[in-house]
Amino acid sequence: MSTFLAVRQVRRPQGTPSAEDFTFVTEPLPVLADGQVLVENVYLSVDPYMRQLMNTGEAGREGRAIGRVVESRSAGLPVGTTVFHRGGWTTHAAVGAADLRRVDPAGGVPLSAYLGVLGGTGLTAFVGLTRIARLRPGEDLFVSAAAGGVGSAAGQIARLMGAGRIIGSAGSAAKVAHLKEIGFDAAFNHRDGPVGEQLAQAAPRGIDVYLDNVGGDHLEAAIGALREHGRVAWCGAIAQYSSAPPAAPRNLADVMFKSLRVEGYLVREHLDAREPFERFLVPHLQNGSVRVDETVVDGFGNVVEAFLGVLRGDNTGKMLVRVS
Ligand code: NAP
Repeated sequence: MSTFLAVRQVRRPQGTPSAEDFTFVTEPLPVLADGQVLVENVYLSVDPYMRQLMNTGEAGREGRAIGRVVESRSAGLPVGTTVFHRGGWTTHAAVGAADLRRVDPAGGVPLSAYLGVLGGTGLTAFVGLTRIARLRPGEDLFVSAAAGGVGSAAGQIARLMGAGRIIGSAGSAAKVAHLKEIGFDAAFNHRDGPVGEQLAQAAPRGIDVYLDNVGGDHLEAAIGALREHGRVAWCGAIAQYSSAPPAAPRNLADVMFKSLRVEGYLVREHLDAREPFERFLVPHLQNGSVRVDETVVDGFGNVVEAFLGVLRGDNTGKMLVRVS
């Protein structure tokens, strides 16, 4: 085989992106430089932040992937080595040794977990709860987009941290049922009615911590429900990635009146937490107390649909593409 497939963005969308914003290209396999390996991808990650990459035309060119070395000009990385890299939506990538990391899956842990609950997605949840919100045992937590990758990891990790009541919002009845299966104490469908009213019902005595994946009406609802000295770990704002910023939160002054702390963060500034996080989580994955929650779409040809699906909410758990 002398060619590989890649996805390129061909158009910048106004509003919700569509399949026509992308094209599939066939390119010759690169000739490796010294120190490089050719990786045949096994799993690709599709993520909400890639919607923002579309504003500069770069979607597809960057993105987390796991694959196997099929050709090597790097002594320490023989053919067959499994590696993580950020080469984007391609079937193959030429990667320098400095730009990849070996992946040696722990016994009983599936390879896909290293792009999901054990990868940047789970790390985002872990950092939000431990470093940003500093969740303490017994504290009550609300998580939005709770049935997604970060959200489902956050609920499960918070349980291990000894959280009190854990409440989640998600976009369908099936997802609400799923949240209860993976250990959330209460959950509601954000499409069923105003989020503020539904959260007040689910948490009549309030919450201490909010892990925000959505922004807008969800953030406003959480500010309303937070007790004095509550914290918001602001992880994402998916409600506005494809649309104008929402009017909410209209109750921002309550951040001052209730002495709240609202702190945004980017997981890439916390990569030093990856190893301790893996050490913490792997035993729980091995004994089954934490689930590898994922939706796997098969076939490289479906990578764009999988990405559009994450933005629509087609996924439960982390959305991944299995390349072949
Ligand atoms: P995800 O939650 O698996 O997928 C996105 C989910 O968002 C969808 O499944 C959908 O679920 C929900 N959604 C879409 N539009 C919505 C809307 N208007 N209102 C409410 N929910 C909506 O994706 P993820 O990768 O785990 O990311 C979750 C959030 O974390 C995103 O905002 C992302 O940008 C952010 N993030 C931040 C960092 C960081 O470093 N700060 C790192 C990773 C991810 P429903 O069916 O439930 O609506």
